[in-house]
Amino acid sequence: MKVLVAVKRVVDYNVKVRVKADNSGVDLANVKMSMNPFCEIAVEEAVRLKEKGVASEIVVVSIGPTAAQEQLRTALALGADRAVLVESSEELNSLAVAKLLKAVVDKEQPQLVILGKQAIDSDNNQTGQMLGALTGYAQGTFASKVEVAGDKVNVTREIDGGLQTVALNLPAIVTTDLRLNEPRYASLPNIMKAKKKPLEVLTPDALGVATASTVKTLKVEAPAARSAGIKVKSVEELVEKLKNEAKVI
Ligand code: AMP
Repeated sequence: MKVLVAVKRVVDYNVKVRVKADNSGVDLANVKMSMNPFCEIAVEEAVRLKEKGVASEIVVVSIGPTAAQEQLRTALALGADRAVLVESSEELNSLAVAKLLKAVVDKEQPQLVILGKQAIDSDNNQTGQMLGALTGYAQGTFASKVEVAGDKVNVTREIDGGLQTVALNLPAIVTTDLRLNEPRYASLPNIMKAKKKPLEVLTPDALGVATASTVKTLKVEAPAARSAGIKVKSVEELVEKLKNEAKVI
């Protein structure tokens, strides 16, 4: 079974992002970039499926600038077999990304496509769902357990107040939640080996996909700074402040 995993290059989760002075976006100059954490979980799940003998080949795909090759090499070091970069320096919205992924799905014909549930930069949580609509494949989102059984994949989903298990006919799309697995670290020998694994570079034009955006970012703002807290001396003072200052009781 071929598994396709979509990985996005994003600002590392440890970085405190700074908004550009003109509020047009986030400042990416000299900022550490990494693989989106939910995509790391997606790669890990594919590697575990291969280790179990369920997956025969893992192809990782990223859409983004030339530098996204770094995240693809990381995925190759973690156990993916080959990589595809759809190179674009434009800021692409989710629908454009989903259309490009659909073109890669058509080309690669995977039985299972694994994506993160969300990219931590744009917080869209919609690419997997859009890819589901474009391909017509069954989808199991927010997966905390994935079991392939014959021509089906059982996905346990994290939903409000509990878990839901759905059976999807293959080919299918799965998006990963936080508790699906704990990704491994790449070992040094595997990082070295990954340099020799195949990495194909394509363009949206070559895939015949128009990427013009239908969404324009008007303004990006940092959250308002929190005002400092105070210490009160008694319960009476606390109640008084909650009533008259905070006006919450
Ligand atoms: P989003 O819908 O933007 O929150 O992203 C959800 C998931 O879609 C990510 O975790 C990735 O698996 C995939 N994805 C989004 N953007 C890209 C991209 N530029 N390249 C590859 N995969 C992407």
